Amino acid sequence: MTRVQTARRFDSLLAVKTSPARSNGSASKRVDLEKVFGENTFNLAQMRQRLPQAVFDALVETIEHGTPLDGTVADAVAQAMKEWALEKGATHYTHWFQPLTGLTAEKHDSFLAPTGDGRAITEFSGAELVQGEPDASSFPSGGLRATFEARGYTAWDATSPAFIMEGPGGAYLAIPTAFASWAGDALDQKIPLMRSIQALNDQAMRALELFNTPARRVRSTLGPEQEFFLIDEEFYYRRPDFLTSKRTLFGGKPPKGQELDDHYFGSIPDRVLDCMNEVELELYRLGVPVTTRHNEVAPGQYEMAPIHEEANIAADHQQLTMLTLNQVARKYGLVCVLHEKPFAGVNGSGKHLNWSFGTESHNLLEPGDTPHDNMQFLFFCSAVLKAVERHQDLLRAAIAYAGNDHRLGANEAPPSIISVFLGDQLTDVFEQIEKVGNASSSRAGGLLGLGVRTLPDLPKHAGDRNRTSPFAFTGNKFEFRALGASQTISMPATVLNTVVAEAIDELTTSLETRVASGQALNEALRGLLAEEIHTFKRIIFNGDNYSAEWVEEANRRGLLNLKNAMDALPHLVEDKNAAIFEKYGVLSGRELESRYEIAVEQYFHAINIEGETMADMARTMILPAANRYLSELLLTADRADGAGIKASGVVTTARGVSGLIDELTDAIEVLVAQNAELGGDEVHSKALHMRDHIIPAMAAVRSAADRLEKVAPDDLWPIPTYRDMLFIK
Ligand code: ADP
Ligand code: MG
Repeated sequence: MTRVQTARRFDSLLAVKTSPARSNGSASKRVDLEKVFGENTFNLAQMRQRLPQAVFDALVETIEHGTPLDGTVADAVAQAMKEWALEKGATHYTHWFQPLTGLTAEKHDSFLAPTGDGRAITEFSGAELVQGEPDASSFPSGGLRATFEARGYTAWDATSPAFIMEGPGGAYLAIPTAFASWAGDALDQKIPLMRSIQALNDQAMRALELFNTPARRVRSTLGPEQEFFLIDEEFYYRRPDFLTSKRTLFGGKPPKGQELDDHYFGSIPDRVLDCMNEVELELYRLGVPVTTRHNEVAPGQYEMAPIHEEANIAADHQQLTMLTLNQVARKYGLVCVLHEKPFAGVNGSGKHLNWSFGTESHNLLEPGDTPHDNMQFLFFCSAVLKAVERHQDLLRAAIAYAGNDHRLGANEAPPSIISVFLGDQLTDVFEQIEKVGNASSSRAGGLLGLGVRTLPDLPKHAGDRNRTSPFAFTGNKFEFRALGASQTISMPATVLNTVVAEAIDELTTSLETRVASGQALNEALRGLLAEEIHTFKRIIFNGDNYSAEWVEEANRRGLLNLKNAMDALPHLVEDKNAAIFEKYGVLSGRELESRYEIAVEQYFHAINIEGETMADMARTMILPAANRYLSELLLTADRADGAGIKASGVVTTARGVSGLIDELTDAIEVLVAQNAELGGDEVHSKALHMRDHIIPAMAAVRSAADRLEKVAPDDLWPIPTYRDMLFIK
């Protein structure tokens, strides 16, 4: 275990220990964690207090065990929810949902109902709780809804607690809902995620029955680690590129970047720490169990991670985390930047999606100390490997968008080749099964002696951590590390749940057949795994995913290398993928097609906006500044000449600057011409035009502009530089 890894184990400890001593102002107020946690959510504890027993029991059945909701409970719940919300100071309620924009949406309605005599009472009925009808016409539908059918419905998701949102304009009750079109197509992220949770549950329950493991339900669990930058808002608002594109389109690497590795786990500046404390407090009040926080690799970069939760709730909470980061940062004069690559040449931000599944009492991906004889674990682990191997393309497509293209394959983030890090211990177990049809031992982790008698021996994990793998087994869960920082976790989770449900389904069926033909379960399983390993073992890679050799090796293994979003996205709608989504009732063909359309459209818009912004900034800010500098130089040379001084240095500088200006001017011309051309009317060809013509044209503009920045006088440079922005005081 390296120094950094040891530190990471203790990061939550450190954060707690250092904060009271170092912070001041709001952050040093004593917070009663137990009291504030969940105080702004209408959680089970609130419901138990406020609902008639029978209603409460019915709700628990739905929430805990997935029993369909009984319509008659809605009125009682609405009444109690309204009373609670009014006590919390809410005046309005909203159905909170997650359209395919990647953001959340809400439309507010007041609790007020006029009584006809000039007064009003507050009202909130079961019908209003259960169903809403926002005008859906301005949300992307990818062709699922013609504009003349603007109707869309939101439906109460009773399994995710309602919560109070507080803002400067007052408080309101937010009810997590699903969002569908008039024809019943899912227009959001939640519905497919919930369907995939169901699919995984159904198949895993079948398998557990075979293993004779009692369980009421299998849930998939998520723990997303969020990386982000905090930037001083003064700098942020002076950069048009940040405002339109959420990243810098210009800017040379600062002289001091992350080279010294001194930011990672370093101490957090006070303003940032106060901001983080408030973010955490707000999230606690919303019942989001964030626990760890620390500096990330790049200067100005941070990370936050929650304790894992059931997938649907974790996905809602992840959206709330991004919202809260954005809102609270503003109070501290900061802007939270969630873009995958805000600064060229500096590490970007990802989101690591820790994923597992388990019964009410047991994580099914927990290997125990002797995985070789934990047949149930080996079964489920094999299902994951089989699924990832078969559906590499889907996993890759689920993280494909313009922002993430900057990270995947760069030397800081997983490559675009999907592979699985399994670790030495498990790889060894699988190899034993492959070779001799049976595994008889597991390599032990042992203890890590530190050589100091007063320090404890640390239990050492049986496998080291791998930071380069896109999909890594980390002890008792898999970590899908290739997500981008700004993305919603729902689609990647939906894909994981679905492909693993399919693999469990198939493995279970094979096992059932073997057992039916008289084999003992363990013997049947060993036989099955020995056979299966051949089909999925090429996906396992424990080495350095950043190395050039891996790209070659992956190529030899025939693994996909889908380098950019436009290479990856078409895989979404391939027959094999449409079939699996359809089979497990997760996305219909239409729903899948619509997601593809929307993703391509978003790719096009993201880069189109960048191209236009860049051309504007180059022409109206960068080029004029460079010309001013040149004119200053020429004036100086002229005056020197008049004074009889041979200012050859000035002339040389002027020549250099003039050369860069020529280069910049030419590059701008190309970019402007490419911007004017859209590559056709059809969105797919427009998106390809962005990839093949706009991105290279932007790179040329940037290259000339960034070299100019390095020579131009600071006071003439029209936008804040990386040096200004990356080091927060
Ligand atoms: P590690 O030692 O690998 O850092 P942690 O327990 O600190 O392990 O977890 C890191 C992240 O993984 C956290 O965000 C946590 O919520 C998540 N996580 C842990 N266990 C699970 C699980 N069973 N399912 C999903 N996510 C999990
Ligand atoms: Mg991380």
